[in-house]
Amino acid sequence: MDSQEINVVLHENRTFPPSKAFQDKAHISGMDAYNALYKKSIEDPDTFWAEAASELHWFKPWDKVFDDSEKPFFKWFTGGKTNLCYNCVDRHLDGPNRNKAALIWEGEPGDSRVLTYFDLHREICKFANGLKSLGVQKGDRIAIYLPMIPELAMALLACARIGAVHSVIFAGFSADSIKDRVLDMDAKFVITGDGSWRRGKALNLKALVDEAVEGVDCVEKVVVVKREQSDAFTCSMKEGRDVWYHKLVKDQSQNCPAEELDSEDMLFLLYTSGTTGKPKGIIHTQGGYMVYTYLTAKYIFDLKPEDVYFCTADIGWVTGHSYLVYGPLANAATCIMYEGAPNHPDNGRFWDIVEKYGVTIFYTAPTAIRAFMKWGDKWPQGRDLSSLRLLGTVGESINPEAWMWYHKTIGAEKCPIVDTWWQTETGGAMLSPLPGVTATKPGSATLPFFGIDAAVVNEDGKETEAGLLTIRKPWPAIMRGIYGDPERYKSTYWCKWDGEYYFPGDGAKVDDDGYFWILGRVDDVVNVSGHRIGTAELESVYVEHPSTAESAVIGIKHEIKGQCLASFVTLKDGIEESEDLKKELNELVAKKIGKFAVPEKIIFTSDLPKTRSGKIMRRLLRDIAEGRALGNVTTLADPSVVESLKCQYSED
Ligand code: ATP
Ligand code: MG
Repeated sequence: MDSQEINVVLHENRTFPPSKAFQDKAHISGMDAYNALYKKSIEDPDTFWAEAASELHWFKPWDKVFDDSEKPFFKWFTGGKTNLCYNCVDRHLDGPNRNKAALIWEGEPGDSRVLTYFDLHREICKFANGLKSLGVQKGDRIAIYLPMIPELAMALLACARIGAVHSVIFAGFSADSIKDRVLDMDAKFVITGDGSWRRGKALNLKALVDEAVEGVDCVEKVVVVKREQSDAFTCSMKEGRDVWYHKLVKDQSQNCPAEELDSEDMLFLLYTSGTTGKPKGIIHTQGGYMVYTYLTAKYIFDLKPEDVYFCTADIGWVTGHSYLVYGPLANAATCIMYEGAPNHPDNGRFWDIVEKYGVTIFYTAPTAIRAFMKWGDKWPQGRDLSSLRLLGTVGESINPEAWMWYHKTIGAEKCPIVDTWWQTETGGAMLSPLPGVTATKPGSATLPFFGIDAAVVNEDGKETEAGLLTIRKPWPAIMRGIYGDPERYKSTYWCKWDGEYYFPGDGAKVDDDGYFWILGRVDDVVNVSGHRIGTAELESVYVEHPSTAESAVIGIKHEIKGQCLASFVTLKDGIEESEDLKKELNELVAKKIGKFAVPEKIIFTSDLPKTRSGKIMRRLLRDIAEGRALGNVTTLADPSVVESLKCQYSED
């Protein structure tokens, strides 16, 4: 089907309006308020975004809100001078937030650290002065390979403060992956650590960096943070290149004026998760990204001064950038940052943290929610989760049954759930409920945020019920390009609809209420007997079965049908695989969707191939099923999963 239309096979009708109590206190309450603001944001974006930007500090106001003269290389708040670090920290020092906890950090072994806004300011300034003393200058790229310790958040903010461009590499990547990124960004400096704790094991990070930068000429200095209270890590220092962080900052002044930066000065580069192939170095700049993450964090998480906000994402991913560091801090929130694994020392660790700190807002990913379901209800039920008032999810479509579990078991049926759809490229959340506004539906990211002109269209750009998701107007945090590859930026995101609309690469449907449902990546859409179906709907049927924790469905070549389906299914803890269970699953699919969607093969597996950020890599499953050499595997979390699936698949 050339039109790129997709067949809708599931209809979810349950709705969950926000409670009156929630609505009464929310920043934005009720559909009328949303509609009025949304209308304004679309009809008069310049005024809308100027007002949002005015809530933040600018050393010099912008001349122009939006500039599309070099389309699709858009600019926002041109001529304006600002500083994102200043807005996240300094802006809060003159009032009641000065001594408020900005970061509450907990290490995996149970050690902890609380930094007030004043503390954070001091530490960032010392860090920034230390970097300057090494010769770091505005525009220099700094690769950051640090575990989830406070110095990681500080490193981002210190770079932003002096106009250095940070690029965080998730601290689980191999030496080769670090090297690829360091070379791609031409990094002059690397900030790393001696080690970290993961599931009780000491991880030695520095050795990986040593291997990665060996013979790499662009790297001049490596700053090494010593993980507090630990001598468990082995770490060697190279004379002339490596510098201990604690020595570097010891005698630095605790004042470092924030650089007055151009709104369009580069803020960071971040490589995408690599679900579909080679990661792309996405560029974001100071002003637009700042305004957009500030406003989305404020309204989507309904942040209030008394909230304790816990985003479980690693800062190595865009979610950690926008909604652990920049967005919440720009709103003077109190953020929880946790170093380790969710299942250490046991499967209840996140719930311990919620109870211990009285977390009110909890933001995580569907992959984590499915793991919680797999582990069983006893873990959350053994903790006091009554402080929670709002839940969120991001990263993949959430299966309606996983949504219901989250709603009941974690949210006690009283917390709204914000399912936020967005990408590294979009900088901030694009589709999401507003918790005091939107009646949510399990599995739907619901409605566009202010200023976001989202639509579902076919290949001709005409609106349709199910097809390609598109955004028809630029927004302040839109990526500014792919580092070093402007052509790839154009050909990836502006390849359709005469380059007028942004193409995110995801399929979606819209329902009668105008709600958006992400159906999966367009590349993953399966085509069976003339039906084009998104993976999200197929997989959600499997997750509905009480024995199933997770599933991935792919289309494979079939001589007669063109394509047929193979389903990979993970079972909940304690459930045995059996032929009867396969039969039950097939019957469920036949009943919910139709006989044509019953797969050729069901493969039970203890795990699925995922990126290090926890997303299912369906393209690798297709490679396995069709007996091809595997494509880019550098972002795969656990290579052994693929090996065992390969064996299983050929035996089956
Ligand atoms: P790559 O672009 O390298 O393949 P990636 O797309 O996984 O990697 P990210 O930018 O981290 O990298 O992920 C964005 C993608 O995640 C979206 O395009 C979408 O497919 C998926 N996604 C994120 N949030 C949601 C959500 N709430 N519902 C459905 N899908 C989501
Ligand atoms: Mg992507």
